[in-house]
Amino acid sequence: MTKMIHSTLRLLLTGILLGATIALPAQKIKKADYQAAVDKAYEKYKRLQEGKNADYIKELATVDPDIYGIAIVTTDGKVYTAGDLDSRVSIQSIPKLFTMAKVIEEQGPRAVFDKIGVDATGMRFNSIIAIEMNQGKEINPLVNPGAIAATSMISGLDSVAKWKNILETHNDFAGTELKVNHPVYVSEANDNLRNQAIAHLLKAYNRMYFDPVEATDLYTKQCALNANAKELAVMAATLANGGKNPVTGKTVVSPRTTTFTLSVMSTAGLYDDSGQWLFAVGLPAKSGVGGGILAVCPGKFGVAVISPPLNEAGNSVKAQKAIYDIVRDLDVHPYRIDPK
Ligand code: GLN
Repeated sequence: MTKMIHSTLRLLLTGILLGATIALPAQKIKKADYQAAVDKAYEKYKRLQEGKNADYIKELATVDPDIYGIAIVTTDGKVYTAGDLDSRVSIQSIPKLFTMAKVIEEQGPRAVFDKIGVDATGMRFNSIIAIEMNQGKEINPLVNPGAIAATSMISGLDSVAKWKNILETHNDFAGTELKVNHPVYVSEANDNLRNQAIAHLLKAYNRMYFDPVEATDLYTKQCALNANAKELAVMAATLANGGKNPVTGKTVVSPRTTTFTLSVMSTAGLYDDSGQWLFAVGLPAKSGVGGGILAVCPGKFGVAVISPPLNEAGNSVKAQKAIYDIVRDLDVHPYRIDPK
């Protein structure tokens, strides 16, 4: 399938292909390096005006496009930030990751593999054609169809119990109590016919494991969870630390669950731009149309950036650029190898 090369990633790729600075040999990252990388990425992009807020969820169009916050949280619990850490945005697709992780934790990776599928669809995150082409199979937990299916699989006898489970999981990853952004939830719930259609189509293919209307509602509510850049970075750092929150010390999921979670992130975390992202940056990441992106540097740190304007694929323009720069400056691309 011919794929449009989106401007943000094209720029990143151009930088790489021209041999952009690959800095120091792999070594322990110092505190000052983390802070310098965060500050530099903040300064470099703070005035960038590219991309556009999502508006298919009406409330998202009203979010301040100038919100721009960056945070790194290391696996030993140190925090480095720049920009706006006060503003919270709805994290939209990002909870797909943590709900999937919880399902893997509860039912094992095989359940996700068999009942949802882990191949990337290569199509837009809410594609219905992707479901049809695969007859409901291979719907990937990090795009809408697979995420609604994962939500339907989370344990709990009814909707209330399932929501409690979802919320507690997210709170444990974040190490704080996250709140639902009600205007965003209501705005999307009144307008999510497409996601409801997806849930019903999956039901027709026997790939929906709870009532489709209630599963879509739970999914919509989790998308409306609010977080700032630091809270997202703690969530990412928990994955970077093998499932143990480095700030609270609580084990949220097992190292085994974390391994499978990071693998799926690599295939589909940035939707149909995931291949380009992995090529340029190398770290598993997850984005949401609220403007957040988090990325995981296994064993080292989680990084998150919030900036609402998006590119055509639905990924924050500034967040992609900032994380790319930070990964390059800290020299942590996982496939950068010094020959012996
Ligand atoms: N709530 C959004 C939706 O279902 C989440 C999508 C996204 O962030 N890509 O469309």
